[in-house]
Amino acid sequence: MEKFEACVIGAGVIGIAVAHALSLSKDINPEKILLLESRADFGQGISSRNSEVIHGGLYYRPGSLKAELCIRGKALLYEYLSANGISHARCGKLVVAQRHQQDALLALRDNAVKSGLHDLQILNKHRLSLKESSLSAYLAVLSPSTGIVDSHHYMHSLLDKAQRRGIIFAANSPVSAIKPCRDGFEVSIETNQADSRDYTFTSKLLINSAGLSADKIADKIIGLKKDLIPKILMCKGDYFSYAGANPFSHLIYPIPEADTVGLGIHCTMDLNNQLRIGPDAAYIAEESYHVEPYKTERFAEAVQRYFPGLKPDLLQPSYSGIRPKLSGPGEPAGDFVFQTEDEHRLKGLVQLFGMESPGLTASPAIAQHIIHLFGLSP
Ligand SMILES: Cc1cc2nc3c(=O)[nH]c(=O)nc-3n(C[C@H](O)[C@H](O)[C@H](O)COP(=O)(O)OP(=O)(O)OC[C@H]3O[C@@H](n4cnc5c(N)ncnc54)[C@H](O)[C@@H]3O)c2cc1C
Repeated sequence: MEKFEACVIGAGVIGIAVAHALSLSKDINPEKILLLESRADFGQGISSRNSEVIHGGLYYRPGSLKAELCIRGKALLYEYLSANGISHARCGKLVVAQRHQQDALLALRDNAVKSGLHDLQILNKHRLSLKESSLSAYLAVLSPSTGIVDSHHYMHSLLDKAQRRGIIFAANSPVSAIKPCRDGFEVSIETNQADSRDYTFTSKLLINSAGLSADKIADKIIGLKKDLIPKILMCKGDYFSYAGANPFSHLIYPIPEADTVGLGIHCTMDLNNQLRIGPDAAYIAEESYHVEPYKTERFAEAVQRYFPGLKPDLLQPSYSGIRPKLSGPGEPAGDFVFQTEDEHRLKGLVQLFGMESPGLTASPAIAQHIIHLFGLSP
């Protein structure tokens, strides 16, 4: 049976960043690292269906993994993107509030400062109108370090570097069984030839980075206590495109309403300066990526509160993504979960659960965190 030193399950942005970081570690032979993906190519899961925003780190509970890894990941990400010529823009973001939302905006600013974000600026109505004349708002917080990135280019670059160092990337390789053994874990993948049996190998280290399916992968691990497997709840976010010109040079976010799950329907843009509107947030039972045209009115109303010039007939249903949530409707937001030997007693296994936003931004810091959890040298 072939022996690997490390196996990463799931080639989304996080699995790829982890495989890349492992390939840099002096303690591992890169040729003995395997990155497995069930789909035909990398980055086709949650990582292909997001806003591609490099988050500043405003919203997360100070001291949480989300806050720490977002702020650290943001710095590492900008460094990597600049060093490797990957398209991105540090365009900045405005969180806008109406008069009755001032306290909520200032509370958000205070939360961000407690998390270690010290570059925020408060803009009054006049200063705001000088920056963005199409906005209608009373007060805003400017986060100058927020940006956008070509996330596919980023994933491609990381994977390419890791492969050049020798790691093996296997697409069309769904993991079907996992059993702890003397050499770590015996892992089987389904092969697509009807006449051939599953391919089985061993790996000393195993990283479950399967996004929405991380709970299903955990369920396949023989000997893992079932009560350690969290339920992943699917929370869908729909996007609309806007056929009109983008009047903004910043990303524009409203103050999230107290009872909403997402960040409020916001206006971001891609690197071609096309407006993206959304996402909203709705828990779903069945995986589906259909965007209902009937939501046009709801999206238009939400955005017109701060962008009154928006023309509803220029909105088009676009794409959607699904957040792998650990908390249900009405519950406080969950943190990233890294389940290690301390909890499950299986040496060499780290499982990632609830890797929702800001997972793209945090990805380089998440990868470093995993290197640290395994006690490997970087
Ligand atoms: C609507 C939305 C907007 C977002 N916006 C942002 C944003 O602007 N900025 C930001 O920082 N973050 C954002 N995020 C979060 C970010 O997209 C995620 O945190 C990140 O993409 C998660 O990456 P991942 O590698 O964990 O998951 P995925 O990309 O889903 O990768 C997991 C992979 O595992 C594979 N897999 C599943 N089962 C198996 C199996 N049995 N065997 C092998 N492989 C398997 C899947 O096919 C998949 O490719 C957003 C998320 C959503 C849903």
